Amino acid sequence: MAAPFPMPITGRGYKWTNLVARSPKGFVTSALAVAQGVGGAAIRREYAAGGQALAAGLLAGLRSMNVPVWTSSPLTDLVVEDGRVVGVVVNHDGKDTTVRARAGVVLASGGFDRDAAMRRTYQSESIDGRWSLGAAADTGEVIQIAASHGADLAFMDAAWWFPVIPLPDGTTGPMLAERSLPGQIIVNGHGRRFMDEAVNYMTAGQLIIAKHTADDPHIPAWIVFDQRYRNRYLFGGALFPRQPLPPSWYDAGIAKKGATVAALADALGMPDLPTTVDRFNLLAAAGRDDDFGRGDSAYDRYYGDPRVSPNPCLGPIDRGPFYAVQVVPGDLGTCGGVRADAFARVLRPDGSVIPGLYATGNAAGNAFGRVYPGPGATVGQGLSFGYVAARHLAGRFGAME
Ligand SMILES: Cc1cc2nc3c(=O)[nH]c(=O)nc-3n(C[C@H](O)[C@H](O)[C@H](O)COP(=O)(O)OP(=O)(O)OC[C@H]3O[C@@H](n4cnc5c(N)ncnc54)[C@H](O)[C@@H]3O)c2cc1C
Repeated sequence: MAAPFPMPITGRGYKWTNLVARSPKGFVTSALAVAQGVGGAAIRREYAAGGQALAAGLLAGLRSMNVPVWTSSPLTDLVVEDGRVVGVVVNHDGKDTTVRARAGVVLASGGFDRDAAMRRTYQSESIDGRWSLGAAADTGEVIQIAASHGADLAFMDAAWWFPVIPLPDGTTGPMLAERSLPGQIIVNGHGRRFMDEAVNYMTAGQLIIAKHTADDPHIPAWIVFDQRYRNRYLFGGALFPRQPLPPSWYDAGIAKKGATVAALADALGMPDLPTTVDRFNLLAAAGRDDDFGRGDSAYDRYYGDPRVSPNPCLGPIDRGPFYAVQVVPGDLGTCGGVRADAFARVLRPDGSVIPGLYATGNAAGNAFGRVYPGPGATVGQGLSFGYVAARHLAGRFGAME
């Protein structure tokens, strides 16, 4: 689910667009983004922000150096001679084409976001890639090809997990700032809280998956909120403040509504929900989440509501009607892949290097393991190790190697 019109939003602007109805800065940031997006379209310019802008800059750099770029040309094998990777086979214009590489090959083909079999094998029976926000072509075959040539694999159970709403049209609605703002909680199938809702998205997904069992379902979990929350904040990446939840959400069973918390609990079949909400409202009134520490960390507070104090992440759920919407562990891509060293060289299980083969981004085992260190950790490591690989290929590290 995306904004219904072009609206380039930077990482810094995102926090404020969520507060469009709550703060002058939120309003101005959103208005400027709309003016740039819609105004740009009027003069036939497509303004981009975030990863799109970054990729556009890289492409411009390649074009300025006259580097040929082949799209829709999937790698189907590596060319190995005397134990060294010396090229690739790609399917180009419908033909298998060998491309020789003088210094080496860098794999940057993303993860196995969309491969249901790999996701079930390495991650969870509940995960098949349908909730992934990753690129449609990231189907993991390059990781498998590298493994077939002897590459070790690392952190295959890991992903940049990201809670999302499983929308009726098969797409997903991202849940980032939504989980930090006051007036909502996330509960399991019994109507009980189970985590600091505002925790970083990777940890949130890990917790949902780890806690899910047949007797204690957490997939789907449900975000429960009141009308005050709906009036104040964006939701699911694109619903404006006050905008009603789409009727299709209720028809598909991914949303429920009740005039009271008890009525909502009945609709969800969650007898524990009223007790959970009562307890949460007590914590919210005190401004301290003694159960899960929501709002204790700087990360939690970053996406909170600066107009709510003492804790910008906590507020009561007490103004009806009340809503619940499904939340499932989506992701921004998997982050397990071929094991690479500090020079981005691909390693065998015994730790030796496969000469001529490098990997970066989500095709490589995550440099941060199963931990989310902060925004930019995904693109940042892809760029960093791509740069390191290129320098190594060019023999620029000398004595360090
Ligand atoms: C909605 C969203 C928001 C995000 N926000 C952020 C953010 O704010 N900050 C951040 O750091 N990260 C963010 N990320 C994550 C980040 O975009 C990814 O982690 C990053 O793009 C991964 O880079 P990559 O080069 O490894 O893979 P990708 O960007 O997925 O690129 C892999 C490419 O390889 C191609 N490919 C696949 N198979 C083959 C094959 N066989 N042969 C040839 N090519 C192939 C694919 O078509 C694709 O173009 C976000 C992701 C999403 C989805």
